[in-house]
Amino acid sequence: MPSTASPAEPQQILQEVFGYTAFRGPQAPIVDHVTAGGDALVLMPTGGGKSLCYQIPAIARQRAGRGVTVVVSPLIALMHDQVGALHEAGVDAAFLNSTLDWEQTQDVERRMLRGEITLLYAAPERVTTPRFLSQLDSLQERGKLSLFAIDEAHCVSQWGHDFRPEYRALTVLHERYAGVPRIALTATADALTRADIVERLQLEEARQFVSSFDRPNIRYTIVEKKDATTQLLRFIEREHEGDAGVVYCQSRKRVEDVAQTLRDAGANALPYHAGLDAAVRQKHQDRFLREEGIVMVATIAFGMGIDKPDVRFVAHLDMPKNIEGYYQETGRAGRDGAAADAWMAYGLQDVVNQRRMIDESPAGEEFKQVMRGKLDALLSLAEASDCRRVRLLGYFGEKSTPCGNCDNCVSPPQVWDGTEAARKLLSTIYRVQQQSGISFGAGHIMDILRGKTTEKVTQFGHGSLSTFGIGSEFSEAQLRGVLRQLIATGALAVDAQAYNTLQLTEGSRAVLKGETQVLLRESVSSPAERKPRREKTARSAPSPAAATLDATGQARFAALKAWRAEVAREHNLPAYVIFHDATLASIAERAPATLEDLQGISGIGAKKLEAYGSDVLRVCAAF
Ligand code: ADP
Ligand code: ZN
Repeated sequence: MPSTASPAEPQQILQEVFGYTAFRGPQAPIVDHVTAGGDALVLMPTGGGKSLCYQIPAIARQRAGRGVTVVVSPLIALMHDQVGALHEAGVDAAFLNSTLDWEQTQDVERRMLRGEITLLYAAPERVTTPRFLSQLDSLQERGKLSLFAIDEAHCVSQWGHDFRPEYRALTVLHERYAGVPRIALTATADALTRADIVERLQLEEARQFVSSFDRPNIRYTIVEKKDATTQLLRFIEREHEGDAGVVYCQSRKRVEDVAQTLRDAGANALPYHAGLDAAVRQKHQDRFLREEGIVMVATIAFGMGIDKPDVRFVAHLDMPKNIEGYYQETGRAGRDGAAADAWMAYGLQDVVNQRRMIDESPAGEEFKQVMRGKLDALLSLAEASDCRRVRLLGYFGEKSTPCGNCDNCVSPPQVWDGTEAARKLLSTIYRVQQQSGISFGAGHIMDILRGKTTEKVTQFGHGSLSTFGIGSEFSEAQLRGVLRQLIATGALAVDAQAYNTLQLTEGSRAVLKGETQVLLRESVSSPAERKPRREKTARSAPSPAAATLDATGQARFAALKAWRAEVAREHNLPAYVIFHDATLASIAERAPATLEDLQGISGIGAKKLEAYGSDVLRVCAAF
């Protein structure tokens, strides 16, 4: 048992074990605080580098003789790869879950009880079993229970989008092992969720570390939905041919349909949803992680904890429930820091569906109110004609200036004043209701406004209304835009129980009276009809990381990737766990001749240098 008087320097561990030269953002103060035994709540966007925030304290404390760090994570399907990545870096880690047989389980438990394991991963339902707790008791008695890391901490909150009741039972950790420090981490945290995490996990005393949520390399784009699947196909063809990506859809059936359509169009697409067999799901996830250029078409059942660094785009074909969900899902793009896209198609039907899902849910009225508020925030993001990032960050309480890297910044949309059109629409709905005593749907209302003498107009005598034909100057597309925004902002409601008829609301009055201005994006043509927004620069190179290499460098890079693929296959791990693309690109650039030449390249720690150094030199020597 290695035991030194003072804990190893975190900075030294960062270099020696992970091969990184500097901490990122707020990692250093977090690591110091937790290594010293403080409690922490860490809010950092996806890809921000949360793992090191508990892994380095775990290693430092283990080296100081303090024993085992228990990592609570809901991600059973990913534990194998997470632990594999630590092994590659030479860290003693293990997991306990249902994929282990009895013998393997006993082996892990024995090693844990001896205090040998540095990081032990387990799901919350395992951690709170009497058997596991009595093992923790025994560890604690011998001073070998070092730290608890609670990953994906938003799962404890019903306001988060991944509520898992098992997380509630984790208060036992605090109550039973009061002296053991805890670090809780999440990438999701509006003020409400954050407060809930603190309360539920009893983290009142913990220091809070809130990072900027900005992901500058992600470009946010929200397009008006016409034929979503075709729009998606064009988007992929134009900007992401051969790239790895994730496409989120609302329903299982839609996932299957879209995956099929993409495959028919020649993309390497796989479906993922809760209706698929667990074995199929795992296989598709493994392929996504291990192969290059797979497009995963999925429901939100997919993605939590997926740490694949080179996902180049995340697309939403249906609108999520709220900004937290949207941000977490889009955050899975571009973890490696290279350019990536978050693309969403959004239309009236999304508004109607999401409102209906809230209305029809069995939840209490108070809960529904919160959900409506969250939906409204997302709708106003979708309707926005100013910088998307300013709004996104604003939602998380951050002030910023226009980003220059979202659709609205790159090509500012034409805005037109739809206030008059909105008033005419609302007063038509009012008059019709007055005259006929019943409500009608959007199509009929627009016909009246545009002065069309349809069969229905004749049947109900709506041609005699004072509003008949007063909106003939507006196109149907414009009126649809107005309707969508009125519904999005709650100035108009759709009654799903009554044939999707339109109903005036409290909010209608302010618009009717002209107190609320209605500004609308000019209905833009589909992206395919617009001029290309981005030059193909880094993107047309084999990998963004290798874009600047000369021809020999490219050849070396390709050879290194081939070698890496072989090693990854042998170890049954994703390739990026062996070395990131960026690390291979640095090696290719440096053309190392000796082990010394490899030192200091980001991503090559002591263990990897020892395990792979000579292989890498051999591969490079061929050029
Ligand atoms: P999160 O869990 O916050 O989504 P990860 O912990 O998976 O993020 O880190 C994202 C990526 O950034 C990983 O590939 C990780 O190796 C890398 N990374 C984290 N911290 C650093 C650092 N200080 N220097 C270089 N790379 C880092
Ligand atoms: Zn912007």
